Amino acid sequence: MANAKKLSMANTTAQWFQDNFTGGDMSDGVLEKILLHSTETRSWPGYSGGASSPTLTIDPWACEVRQHHDLDRSARALRDPSYTGVRENRDGVVQIEIIGYCDPGLVADYGHDIGEIPDDGLRLIGQVLAEIAVEWDVPLKAAERWLSYPASYGDSSVRMSGEEYDAFKGVLGHMHASGNTHGDPGDIDIDTIMQYAREFAGQEEDELTPEDKQWMADWHKKHLEHDVLPGVEGAVRAGVLSAFEDADERNGPFGRRFGSVLNSLFGRLIRRHVKKAWGAAARRDSPFGRQMGTSVHRASNLTGAPATPDQVEALVRSAMDDLAARLAAERDGK
Ligand SMILES: [Zn+2]
Repeated sequence: MANAKKLSMANTTAQWFQDNFTGGDMSDGVLEKILLHSTETRSWPGYSGGASSPTLTIDPWACEVRQHHDLDRSARALRDPSYTGVRENRDGVVQIEIIGYCDPGLVADYGHDIGEIPDDGLRLIGQVLAEIAVEWDVPLKAAERWLSYPASYGDSSVRMSGEEYDAFKGVLGHMHASGNTHGDPGDIDIDTIMQYAREFAGQEEDELTPEDKQWMADWHKKHLEHDVLPGVEGAVRAGVLSAFEDADERNGPFGRRFGSVLNSLFGRLIRRHVKKAWGAAARRDSPFGRQMGTSVHRASNLTGAPATPDQVEALVRSAMDDLAARLAAERDGK
């Protein structure tokens, strides 16, 4: 975890409020929740100069993100009554306002239905969630039930008690927050957003068979528990790209099997974005880059010995050779 306080893709100057509203530390010093709001506007709210601002605002229609406070400073968009026994704005929560309306009466007048965000916008929200989750280890798990507005308003069946809010880790809405009445973000497509978020974070459900999983575990043990390798930034830049390009060009069972190894080690992100992500990892300059850098580091940082590009490339090539040998043995019926 790098624990970056700024989101890589956010504009941090247009509406940066932290100089005037410094915010407080999070209660337990960690982030554990991402809470979504809808702005009930068509464009960037002024937030009274920051007095009622969230941590971030996303415009999913224009695909832009603005950051207002560091990720680990408390934001100001929740009610925080003392009777709940938990500090709603400070309970390890990143607050994200999403531009759009959940109130059907306002949608009728102004459009921008929070339930009709275009696919690009849903992807962007997922990407933001993924970056925060990866940086800060927030679980990409959404609250179980979400209600449409106005059923979500007030003391609804999904409203948490202070104790439940305190204990919750994952992604929730203003409608769930204890001690609050607002029902936003209504019927936002949380399932699709979470699916994108897990994809960006490389946390998709895997489709490997039990045999594949056992084989991956054995492979991992053989190659990674004994003779490996951290300090991978340089290695990423230099050695591994060529090995991945080799794999990328192969068809048939070998290529597919190697893809499974990559999924197992680094997450499925690789398969779709291998070249782009690998380039970004070398630069560490995007959500892809940080995710990839983190994945590679986790997969290889087991012994404390510095890795060279040659060592990493040798590791990957050795895995490919093992795969080829195993597939040849299977083909020959051994
Ligand atoms: Zn709200």
